Amino acid sequence: MRCDRLAVVFGDQLDRALPEDMGLSKGSDIILMAEVRSESEGVPSHRLRTALFLSAMRHHAEWLRGQGWRVEYVALSDADNTHSFRGEIARACGRVRASRLAAARPGDHRVLAELEEAAEQAGVDLTVIEDPHFLTTPDDFGQWAHGRKQLVMEYFYREQRKRLGILMEGSKPVGGAWNFDKENRGAFRSAPRAPEPPRFKPDSVTRAVFKDMEAQLPGLPGFADAFNWPVTREQALQALDDFIEHRLPRFGDFQDAMWLGERTLYHALLSPALNLKLLDPREVVDRAVKAYEDGHAPLNSVEGFVRQIIGWREFIRGVYWFEGAAYAERNGLGHHGRLPAFYWTGQTDMACMADAISGVLETGYAHHISRLMVTGNFALIAGIDPKAVSEWYLGMYVDGVDWVTLPNTLGMALHADGGVVGTKPYAASGKYIDRMSNACGQCRYSVEQRAGENACPFNTFYWDFLIRHEKRFAKNTRMKMMLKHVERMGRDERVEITVSAGKLRKRMGITDRSGAGG
Ligand code: FAD
Ligand code: SF4
Repeated sequence: MRCDRLAVVFGDQLDRALPEDMGLSKGSDIILMAEVRSESEGVPSHRLRTALFLSAMRHHAEWLRGQGWRVEYVALSDADNTHSFRGEIARACGRVRASRLAAARPGDHRVLAELEEAAEQAGVDLTVIEDPHFLTTPDDFGQWAHGRKQLVMEYFYREQRKRLGILMEGSKPVGGAWNFDKENRGAFRSAPRAPEPPRFKPDSVTRAVFKDMEAQLPGLPGFADAFNWPVTREQALQALDDFIEHRLPRFGDFQDAMWLGERTLYHALLSPALNLKLLDPREVVDRAVKAYEDGHAPLNSVEGFVRQIIGWREFIRGVYWFEGAAYAERNGLGHHGRLPAFYWTGQTDMACMADAISGVLETGYAHHISRLMVTGNFALIAGIDPKAVSEWYLGMYVDGVDWVTLPNTLGMALHADGGVVGTKPYAASGKYIDRMSNACGQCRYSVEQRAGENACPFNTFYWDFLIRHEKRFAKNTRMKMMLKHVERMGRDERVEITVSAGKLRKRMGITDRSGAGG
């Protein structure tokens, strides 16, 4: 076999228009797709995440072939599989005697480096185009970010709205305000149950993937029983229809809510389909805006949703490429604690954490507030190593891809980037969780206590966090209110909290007996 160009399509690049966007020719070019073990084992990847990627890839390869594209597909079980992208790209270059290599920008610094190394190893020219899925290129973002003291998402978002003409009346935002956050902080208490999202049971392709995984990838974390994610574009469009019809109208009201047992609330559940590129952000936003124009969904919901897609999602990706590969190594708060074992089992007597983690183990999903204010907040205030936490998030969520997981985890949740993604840490005590959910009423800890055996660990760690970082945050005006309470604390109270936090850290395995790791 011989070809002019070998075009690599990675597992999160399943956009059907991509071959045309890359200028490929059905006659002379070949598309390479490869299932490699390193992507599931390098950072342990949830069974459902692995199955979703592989099933969607196999469906996509079949679709491409049906359209007349030549596809070289390397399966997990192929005897010669080197199980790394570098190895498979270099091997395929030789096999199809490619004279050129092409790809769209991958979603991970490491994969881009592997692509470049493979091209060098094979001695072929490499062309990397920008991924057309996104609304903003890294260069566009770089120009916006250049020279700014602080990268504030809200300003980026407003420029996106103006540039793209979304929810605008001339130069003014529709409804007279850029955001309706104040209307979007409803607790769930008095609301009706959220409608059940649609089910996407494993089809024959997904079942075959699970079989291959049993043989090739034993021992991955998470449960496999509840596979329920779209694996084709057609299914992704059904998921989009369902969200617009049934959950978008109340998305805004309950965007920040939490409730034990209600794992999805009014959220979209579209991140896996978006990140695999089964859906395009433009069509998702168009559908939401149309729902507003048709009177089906109110402005606070539609604006809130649009902000997530054209604001946060693009901003986070901009930060990822702008900050470079060294971003992953940042540890601005000097946290070195170990990730407690209960992040892998859900077995903890903290009701909020047990619910959040067991949800992730069962479904590979949690909504934003659960990720940020429960599992993320805990890791931040307990002082856990940002790298260990970021890797857990990357592997354990079905929508995990480095460009989006890393800045959200290391930056937004852990404030380890020195304040690039957020101007202040999202640190909160148990009181916040009590206000926004029903978890504390079902917990063995007392959300009223700050120190001692029965005190809510979120309280103990929260106050300990503020005590430990009091000097660091003294000049941060957004932290003033929080630190005022610490300033007023007497010496005995501080010592009691510090001692309690130290004991908790040891009991949870965050530090060892000597205190190392904290
Ligand atoms: P909804 O709440 O319904 O939001 C709609 C869409 O907006 C999402 O599908 C997503 O595409 C986009 N969006 C919303 N917030 C963000 C954000 N902060 N960054 C990027 N996109 C956003 N998102 C991922 O896609 N992959 C991840 O690996 C990921 N890891 C995260 C880790 C942490 C610690 C935190 C705090 C957030 C993370 N997020 C991640 C962002 C966000 O939590 C998820 O996008 C969202 O929960 C996905 O569920 P949904 O589709 O129901 O979202
Ligand atoms: Fe979580 Fe504390 Fe509430 Fe228990 S008391 S559910 S640990 S916030």
